[in-house]
Amino acid sequence: MTLDQNRLRIAIQKSGRLSTECQKLLKGCGVKLNLREQRLIAHAENMPIDLLLVRDDDIPGLVMDGVVDLGVVGENVLEETLMERQAQGESSDYSVLKRLDFGGCRLSLAVAQEFDYQGPESLEGKRIATSYPWLLKRYMDRQGVKFKSVMLNGSVEVAPRAGVADAICDLVSTGATLEANGLVETDVIFRSKAVLIQSAIPLPTAKQQVIDRLLPRIQGLQQARE
Ligand code: ATP
Ligand code: ZN
Repeated sequence: MTLDQNRLRIAIQKSGRLSTECQKLLKGCGVKLNLREQRLIAHAENMPIDLLLVRDDDIPGLVMDGVVDLGVVGENVLEETLMERQAQGESSDYSVLKRLDFGGCRLSLAVAQEFDYQGPESLEGKRIATSYPWLLKRYMDRQGVKFKSVMLNGSVEVAPRAGVADAICDLVSTGATLEANGLVETDVIFRSKAVLIQSAIPLPTAKQQVIDRLLPRIQGLQQARE
């Protein structure tokens, strides 16, 4: 199974918090998908669209490198990747076609309940576990607080209890996970929703026409849900 140059390529999360909503969105736009098999590429049956099912972290890069035309990803992952790529001098152009009405969450600092937190300055010189070192550094730089980043791609919330960090910077939606781990949210450093983004590489007319058909449908779906 390969990618056809004439079909619009959209990268979405294969499995996770955004995947069900993304599939619902496409279905709502009238795109008929066959997602039964666990594979990387799915072809729409009734429109010239190919889906790439990947990890959410790979989506901004695929769009910025022009490997896919569109992608749906959380602004948290988008912004983190953007800062990382800019620092590394990699291409980082894209445009936001639409802010979506799902995937809402916030990136927050949290400390153990026992921690005597007086503000970000309480974290001076401390170790903070996170999967978002760039977003965290930007916030702490603005606060003028120096800290040590402990990079963890999962289980961030157990880091303080495990003794590997003094605080965490992690995604929160209800706060239940923090509470279950004896942590308190102190600072919201970034608010996020899912966004539909487009590669900066100009598209052939046929592909642009597919986007022009999809966008009003997405708009309509979101209005209906408001
Ligand atoms: P992948 O295997 O694709 O890398 P993941 O484990 O990194 O998945 P998910 O936990 O599925 O990612 O979250 C995907 C996105 O969903 C997040 O980046 C964020 O934008 C959004 N999201 C919404 N609510 C939450 C939440 N409570 N915790 C984490 N992410 C959330
Ligand atoms: Zn991920």
